[in-house]
Amino acid sequence: MKELEERIQRDGIVREGEVLKVDSFLNHQCDVELFDHMGAEWARLFAGKRVDKILTIEASGIGIACVVARHFGNVPVVFAKKYQSINLDGDQYCTNIYSFTKQKTYSVIVAKRFLNAGEHVIIIDDFLAKGNALNGLIDICESAGAVVEGIGIAVEKGFQPGGKELRERGYDLQSLAIVKDMDPATGEIEFA
Ligand code: 5GP
Repeated sequence: MKELEERIQRDGIVREGEVLKVDSFLNHQCDVELFDHMGAEWARLFAGKRVDKILTIEASGIGIACVVARHFGNVPVVFAKKYQSINLDGDQYCTNIYSFTKQKTYSVIVAKRFLNAGEHVIIIDDFLAKGNALNGLIDICESAGAVVEGIGIAVEKGFQPGGKELRERGYDLQSLAIVKDMDPATGEIEFA
């Protein structure tokens, strides 16, 4: 998606440790008009699919997913909640996710009553790096018996393995910008 790529070129900051900061428009300060255009693009890419719900993960995915839902008939948005550790009461689906940016493992839960067997889901998130966050969300969908119709990612770091692995597993993964290479010394960002 050209508009997103141009925005990343203009406002993205390349950090050491393969981290791209896009917090001026994507995941701290939010450009809602850009989110709206991203929603339109995913609606085009996932056209014809049954979508009952959008699933994302707190915190950065929530704003994006809520705007995107407007392009999918205002379906509900469910976000997985993060906890350091939890006491399961049996009413929740739970999985563990290792965070690339925070370098620690945390638990995420979705209440069983918000994700049902047979529901068709699109997963939305801001970034795809190694795929840990998405694998956790897929895990939760599998536990619920929900069908993952597609995965929409704003920024995929194509030089990290998450995207390739998910496509090999057969998921319809639509990343709106795929970073092929980025250099913290020069700040240069190259797209696939
Ligand atoms: P993964 O689980 O695929 O390794 O990483 C995905 C999650 O880590 C995303 O939800 C995002 O919050 C965070 N993340 C990974 N890489 C980056 C990055 O380069 N920049 C930012 N801002 N977040 C990232």
